Amino acid sequence: MIIQRVVLNSRPGKNGVPVAENFQIEAVPLPDKITDGQVRARTLYLSVDPYMRCRMNEDTGSDYLLPWQLSEVADGGGIGVVEESKHGNFAKGDIVTSFNWPWQTKIILDGRLLQKLEPQLVDGHLSYFLGAAGITGLTSFLGIKEKGHVTVGDNQTMVVSGAAGACGSLAGQIGRLEGCSRVVGICGTDEKCSILVSEMGFDAAINYKKGNVAEQLHELCPAGVDVYFDNVGGDISDAVINQMNQNSHIVLCGQISQYNKDVPYPPPLPPAVEEIQKARNITRERFLVLNYMDKQEASILQLCQWIKEGKLKVKETVVKGLENIGGAFQSMMTGGNIGKQIVLISE
Ligand code: NDP
Repeated sequence: MIIQRVVLNSRPGKNGVPVAENFQIEAVPLPDKITDGQVRARTLYLSVDPYMRCRMNEDTGSDYLLPWQLSEVADGGGIGVVEESKHGNFAKGDIVTSFNWPWQTKIILDGRLLQKLEPQLVDGHLSYFLGAAGITGLTSFLGIKEKGHVTVGDNQTMVVSGAAGACGSLAGQIGRLEGCSRVVGICGTDEKCSILVSEMGFDAAINYKKGNVAEQLHELCPAGVDVYFDNVGGDISDAVINQMNQNSHIVLCGQISQYNKDVPYPPPLPPAVEEIQKARNITRERFLVLNYMDKQEASILQLCQWIKEGKLKVKETVVKGLENIGGAFQSMMTGGNIGKQIVLISE
């Protein structure tokens, strides 16, 4: 059987901007027969995520991420439907997922690498398992739970950067559900700002590409900032930290503004900002969702319940076709998405 797959065609370089042409689609044969323990599945959805930028480097700079190899198939979060199984845990028709799903139209994987999903949890909206009911939702929820110190009744103000993206759009809503009284987002277009306020319950949103972020923050957060959910780092975060209160907390989720630079993670703050952080006793601890997978099951149930109740609004930007996955990645890295960027491979 002939299938399509996407390989890493070239590396952008540690300080380069990734482009669609770093990836290439090709046709390859897939064995007709599977062996004991294996599962063959048809790919339904693939995820493109900021961490993949590190996997495009020869050295990812982190011990939990392996680099993609040139001319070899890329992989990441994926969902598919089982076509044939020789593994006891799976049967034809099951919906399955893996963090290391090859970017192929069909895959053969060892069943031990797959997890079975329950479609009724998301009312059949399977792509949510790559976003709000998957790693993205877990990141927002557990980031706030573990590092946010949100307390009902404390009248806290939360600021979210990268606020219209997958994690950010959920983080603002979860901050509110957990007890923050004011939620302000920072993102890259007026359209995103308007969606955050009109559809996702943010009190206000700032377009960082327009006007002075510090001045707008000062105006929109009159009582200062108590919790900062940081997806982006760089100048935006410096401006937020400047307005943070004594004993406040940063959820250090990601630093996307620094991912095309050869800097350590997390990047150190500029000295003047670090001085503020220390003087005001602002916590800024590294957060990695993979360290909290013992809380995965209960957290996903909570997220799915909020989604069903309409308390957590989910946005997706869906691109169709495996041949467009490189373009989808490039677009997500430069702000083309609202909510989770998803690639639909087959219906
Ligand atoms: P998003 O859906 O938020 O997509 C990325 C967004 O980043 C873009 O839409 C763009 O929106 C914004 N962006 C890109 N470049 C810049 C820049 N230079 N300055 C400011 N904003 C920029 O991605 P995710 O929700 O998947 O990821 C968000 C963050 O969370 C990332 O930093 C990621 O690494 C991190 N993460 C961390 C995890 C953890 O365990 N700690 C797990 C998962 C994700 P805009 O139009 O607003 O610029």
